[in-house]
Amino acid sequence: MKLFDCPHCGHRLYFENAQCLNCASPVLYDPADARFVLSGAGGVFQCTNADECACNWMAEPGHAFCRACELNQLIPDLSVDGNRRRWIRVEAAKKRAIYSLLAAGLPVVPKRNAGDEAGLAFDFLADPIGGPGGARILTGHDNGLITLNVAEADSAERERRRVEMGENYRTLLGHFRHELGHYYWDRLIRDDPQRLAAFRALFGDERVDYEQALKTYHAKGAAPDWQQDHISAYATSHPWEDWAETWAHHLHITDTLEMVHALNFPLGRLETVEANELSRSDTGGELQPAPSEPAAVLEPFEKVLARWLVLSEASNSINRCMGLPDLYPFVISEVTARKLAFVHELLTVVKETGTKREPAEAF
Ligand SMILES: [Zn+2]
Ligand SMILES: [Zn+2]
Ligand SMILES: [Zn+2]
Repeated sequence: MKLFDCPHCGHRLYFENAQCLNCASPVLYDPADARFVLSGAGGVFQCTNADECACNWMAEPGHAFCRACELNQLIPDLSVDGNRRRWIRVEAAKKRAIYSLLAAGLPVVPKRNAGDEAGLAFDFLADPIGGPGGARILTGHDNGLITLNVAEADSAERERRRVEMGENYRTLLGHFRHELGHYYWDRLIRDDPQRLAAFRALFGDERVDYEQALKTYHAKGAAPDWQQDHISAYATSHPWEDWAETWAHHLHITDTLEMVHALNFPLGRLETVEANELSRSDTGGELQPAPSEPAAVLEPFEKVLARWLVLSEASNSINRCMGLPDLYPFVISEVTARKLAFVHELLTVVKETGTKREPAEAF
């Protein structure tokens, strides 16, 4: 994520703002240009969901909804107490996830109908209020339809599930990135023999029985040495879950580094060395502000990882000073780094050339 400017006065805006705190102009996020525009100016209108779920994106030209809300198929029953508050939190996380997809140049196309496999859609549902016996809503992905149980928007409930599942990280944004990982596996890897072969070499053969693999995982858990080749215990359950977890982590890492870059935040020695090398050659010692386009996706992954290791160690240490859990409670092993690099190379190719690749290339 980056920082934004008010289109009227230039004051800093954050991604969730709907009004400038300096000049009081009503502003809307324009996903096509990744910037804020003035509401009402030049035929720019707010999304129909503005008053429903605090959406601050502009409606697509000629449409009622914005590019993100357009993807919603079902929303929770708003007559149920608390559901609107939950939906608002869910939408905020979803929009951050979609920001990264658009920044990466990934296709974000609404599902036209249930049979349209290539499109993307969301169902945000609450467990039936009938109490025990009613079917539970499971968060997951199925052919481009991502279902999320809005109970995950309640921090007490999400924390209960996190402990129950033995996880050390559980967030709405993490759910979206994980489920979207499944969707983009279908889009970018499934039907491409070369990418599929490269995927299997790293993540394993996804043709092993998925249902059975998950059952086994839930019954027995991960092997004690899982950190040697997986980013999370859950990633050991099946190659698809390994992929979705790794994909989500790549987005956690690049999105966070983008913000660090936008803040022009020094990354200790690493950043100083790089900045000095840059500045001495062309500015006679004056440090230059960070360039406006971070393009983390287009950097070599070793560089991204080196920055991330510095930042995550620093952030974890800072959090501990405040008595908070680690910002990034994960270990990136050599094997996990190779899996992250695979996601990185794939996203680099998508960013540079679109989702179709030249036949001769490995990605
Ligand atoms: Zn302003
Ligand atoms: Zn909207
Ligand atoms: Zn999954």
